[in-house]
Amino acid sequence: MGGRMPVSEAIEKPGTDGGAAVLLHGGAWDIPPGQHEAHLLALRDALGSARGVLEKDGGALDAAAAAVASMESSGTFDAGRGGVLNLDGEVELDCGIMCGRSLDYGAVVGVKRIENPVLLARFILESSDGSARILSCEGAERIAAENGFTLVANDKLVTERERVRHSELRQRLADYHTSHPFLASDNVPRGTVGCVARDRGGRLAAATSTGGTPMRPAGRVGDSALPGAGYYASGSAACSATGWGEAITASLLAGRSVDGVEAGGVPAEVLCAVLERMRTSIRNRDGRGATGGLILLDFEGSGAFAFSTPHMARAGWSEGGEGWAAV
Ligand code: ASP
Repeated sequence: MGGRMPVSEAIEKPGTDGGAAVLLHGGAWDIPPGQHEAHLLALRDALGSARGVLEKDGGALDAAAAAVASMESSGTFDAGRGGVLNLDGEVELDCGIMCGRSLDYGAVVGVKRIENPVLLARFILESSDGSARILSCEGAERIAAENGFTLVANDKLVTERERVRHSELRQRLADYHTSHPFLASDNVPRGTVGCVARDRGGRLAAATSTGGTPMRPAGRVGDSALPGAGYYASGSAACSATGWGEAITASLLAGRSVDGVEAGGVPAEVLCAVLERMRTSIRNRDGRGATGGLILLDFEGSGAFAFSTPHMARAGWSEGGEGWAAV
């Protein structure tokens, strides 16, 4: 069947005051050793951004947005600047953010001229009257321009690393169409970023941001902007997912994880179970099981991560403890 059994780790909350906490991910895939240091540095920067907000009594939404914006701007991940290119050679970004207490969310799909989609998604979350929460393409960019966001040329979001990758993959395109080596393959860059945060008031938030999958057709929509799929937050738990987007969507990965914890499940066990269910129920054409990674925080500030790929870039901090990062 392929893929590996998910591994997980529980993150225990320190003390009993239910203080602030944050978990981050920067994608689950076979991250090459040469990129580990850059991932760790960018994760630590992002953790510092979220921690700065939470230690000043800031809200979970602000912390999640700050961490994700930091990772989007780093050029290290498949999000914001540095996102992988679609078939047409363009960066095309999806992102969503959600407040656990109100269940309000905001999301953007297919934006090409915004370096920090999470800040636009956050703006939509705050300003929507509930009649429009996921905005796509030019419509999203028009709202951005009308509300003071800077629109940049798509070129400014394209890094040299991704330009090179795109031209190499283009040469293998015939192969791509016959064998689909990219679907559910852990070798494909899947550096989607995500954050779950809990503030001192006990509010939870989740955010996920991605440049999608390499060589996808223009206009393809993955899981990362869809609540319940790539992210979800309730009063009880917040979750962000990464991995093969089509499988994550069909598996309702983030929503099922939150549901599992609400039903009394132990976070690390719930995450492993939903990943394993995806791996055994959805396969690519080569028979490989769908893989991915998850982070989750509950209302007490306890959390977990889990992944069924060789690596997941991840980091965390909770009040009274030291921050950590790992690949
Ligand atoms: N889930 C993302 C997508 O399919 C990719 C990833 O997580 O790296 O767009």
